[in-house]
Amino acid sequence: MVVDPGCSKSVQGFLDSNGYHLSGILITHHHMDHVGGIDALLSKAAKGISVYGPATGRVAQVNRPVREGDTVDVHCLVAQVIEVPGHTSDHLAYVIELKDTMKSDEVWMFPGDTLFSGGCGRLFEGTPQQMFESLQKLNQFPANTRIFCAHEYTESNLRFARAYSPDSKTIQERETEVRRIRELGESTIPTTLREERLSNLFINAKNPLEFKQIREAKDNF
Ligand SMILES: [Zn+2]
Repeated sequence: MVVDPGCSKSVQGFLDSNGYHLSGILITHHHMDHVGGIDALLSKAAKGISVYGPATGRVAQVNRPVREGDTVDVHCLVAQVIEVPGHTSDHLAYVIELKDTMKSDEVWMFPGDTLFSGGCGRLFEGTPQQMFESLQKLNQFPANTRIFCAHEYTESNLRFARAYSPDSKTIQERETEVRRIRELGESTIPTTLREERLSNLFINAKNPLEFKQIREAKDNF
């Protein structure tokens, strides 16, 4: 299964080179860089595979609309559907707790453009209050939750965080580490909730007003 295929090429290439067949698609929101690859993937997949996504009808290919509290079968795993409005009004996150099936205490989170490594998504449709509450919802999972966010924005997010909060040692240290990883051409994703609690200004905002101030500062950075 694939989450948010913005383009099909890399996904289809991965499937082909491993001899895999796509069995389902999970969509967090309707932006083109998250849905642009659906048609091409469906054209090569078995007929009638499930495409899960918001129940608002904005993604035409969604044939399994889901809402808060619904679950999605991901082979032997179960993904919880969590509504996280803010970036868009109907944005979803998917969270898989491995404890039942794989005897692991790890949690996998797919927050789309809601929570980023060192940052959060822009407020295109929602209010600061909504986004604040959405981030709080995601922050209730355990510290070892692995966060597979949808973009590699860590370096620029931390550049902003250091400028906004220049005295934070943890932000400085993480920025140095992230630069090192990016210079090697490697990805900083997935991150973890433990890491975000140490260095993500947005998830640590104390209230919607503080969140709004940080978000506005980032938008103008
Ligand atoms: Zn988006």
